[in-house]
Amino acid sequence: MAIQKTHDLLSIGGGMGGYVSAIRAAQLGLDAGCVEQESALGGTCLRIGCIPSKALLEASELFHEAKNGLSDFGVKVSGVDLDLPKMLNKKDTIVKSLTTGVAGLLKKNKVARYTGHAKIVGPGRVLVKGEGEETEILAKHIIIATGSKVAPLRGVTMDGDRIGSSTDALSYPEVPGHLVVIGAGYIGLEMGSVWLRLGAKVTVLEYLDRILPGLDAEIAKEAQKVLARQGFEFHLGTRVTGARVENDGCVVEIEGGEPIECDRVLVAVGRLPNTENLGLESVGIALDERGRIPVDDHFRTSAAGIYAVGDVIRGPMLAHKAEEEAMACVEQIVTGYGHVNYDAIPGVVYTNPEVASVGKTEEELAQAGIPYKKGSFPFMPNGRAKALGHTQGKVKILAHAETDRILGVHIIGPRAGDLIAEAVVAIEFAASAEDLARSSHAHPTLAEVMKEAALAVEGRAIHI
Ligand code: NAD
Repeated sequence: MAIQKTHDLLSIGGGMGGYVSAIRAAQLGLDAGCVEQESALGGTCLRIGCIPSKALLEASELFHEAKNGLSDFGVKVSGVDLDLPKMLNKKDTIVKSLTTGVAGLLKKNKVARYTGHAKIVGPGRVLVKGEGEETEILAKHIIIATGSKVAPLRGVTMDGDRIGSSTDALSYPEVPGHLVVIGAGYIGLEMGSVWLRLGAKVTVLEYLDRILPGLDAEIAKEAQKVLARQGFEFHLGTRVTGARVENDGCVVEIEGGEPIECDRVLVAVGRLPNTENLGLESVGIALDERGRIPVDDHFRTSAAGIYAVGDVIRGPMLAHKAEEEAMACVEQIVTGYGHVNYDAIPGVVYTNPEVASVGKTEEELAQAGIPYKKGSFPFMPNGRAKALGHTQGKVKILAHAETDRILGVHIIGPRAGDLIAEAVVAIEFAASAEDLARSSHAHPTLAEVMKEAALAVEGRAIHI
C-alpha cells in the first residue's frame, strides 16, 4: 500500500531544473516537493558534470603551471609530482560539499524531498518507488526536470572502463598513455584538456570539419589553433565507425582510414533527454523527433498541470539554462509572469584559454540577413593579461549596424567565462556597443578588453 502525500507543486529531478523550481515554488508560498532517484542531489551538473570536471580542470592546470609555467615568473619549483588519487579525492570532496549543500537548501526552504524513481500515473498523480517503499504524490503542478544522459555511438560499446563516457573520464585510475576522444564538443575538449595537462597524448576525432559546432566559427578556429599548440591532435572530418577493447588497450575504427590504437576512449558525441519510464503516455505527452518533451513559451506540456524544463526540452543542454527556465516556469504558474531570454544565455568552454559566448554568432547574423558591425580586441596588449602570463585570444563584439545594439559577444581568452557576464547583462538590458564603450572599466583588469572591443566597433580602440 503506497503512502499518500499531497503538494501544490512537485519537481521530478533533483538537478538544477528540479531543485531550483522546488525552492522558487516554496519561496512563492507553495507547498513543494522534489523527487530524485540518486542518493545525492544536484543532478548531472553537480555530481558528474560541471563541478567535478571544473575541479579537475583547475587542479590539472595548477599541476601543469607548476611543472611548466612558473619558471617564467621567476618561481623555481622542482620535484613536481602528480598525486592522482589525491587530486581525484579533492574533486570528490568538492562535489560532496555541494550536493549536501543542495539538500540543506531544500530543508531550509521546507521542500519535501523524496528519494526514488518518479513515474506519472495520471493527471496530477506521481508514484515514487524508493527502496522498499512506494509513495503516491498528488500535485496540482508537476515539473519534469529529469535532465539528460550520455548519447551512445553506433559500433561503440562503452564498457565503463577502457571505453567510457565523461563520467568515467572523471575518475581514470591512472593517466592514460594515449586517450582518444570522440567528439570535439564541450566535453571532449574539457576532459581532453584535463588528461593532456596530466601527461596523456590526446587525439580528438570529430565528424564535422570544425570543432565546437554552434559557436562562432572565427573563435572556434582560434580555439583549435591554440589547443593544437598545447598538444591536442585533431582529426576533423573523421567519422568513427567502431571501437573495441583489445588486449590491454582499445582500437578505434574510422571511416576510410587506418584504425587507431590507444589506451582509453572517451565518447563525447552529445547527450539525450531522459524521458524513459516517466509515464508520459499516461497523460498523453508525445515526444518530438529528437526525443524531447514539447513545451510552449510557458513550459507547459500538452497535459494540463504538467510542465518541463532543462535538458528534456529544446535549447542548449546547460545547467544555467535549466535554472532560468525553472524560475520562469514557477513564476509563470504563481504570478502569471516569467520569461527566459534565450539570446542572453551564455555558453562557456572551460579550456585554457576559456571560450565564452552569448547572443548571435556572425554566421547566424549573416544567415538572418541582419546588418552588423564588428569590434575585436586582443588580450595581447592588456596589462593584466601580461601580468597573468595569459595573453592569447580576443574579444569580439557584434552590434547592429544601424541601432548599435549588442547582438553577440564571443571571447577566447583568460577568464572568458567570467568576462562574459558583463556581455550577458548588456544584452539583457538591450545595451549598445557605445554604452559598453562609455562604461568605466577598472584598470588594470582583463575586462578592459571588453571596453576596447566595444570601442573597436566604431574603430576607436585606444591601446592598439
Ligand atoms: P556536443 O554536442 O558539445 O559535441 C559533440 C561533438 O561530437 C560534436 O562536435 C559532433 O559533431 C561530434 N560527433 C557526433 N558524432 C560523431 C562521430 N560519430 N564521430 C566523431 N564525432 C562525432 O556534446 P558533448 O561535448 O558530448 O556535450 C554534451 C552536452 O553537455 C552539450 O549539450 C553541452 O552543452 C553540455 N556540456 C556543457 C558544458 C559547459 O557548459 N562547459 C560542459 C560539458 C557538457
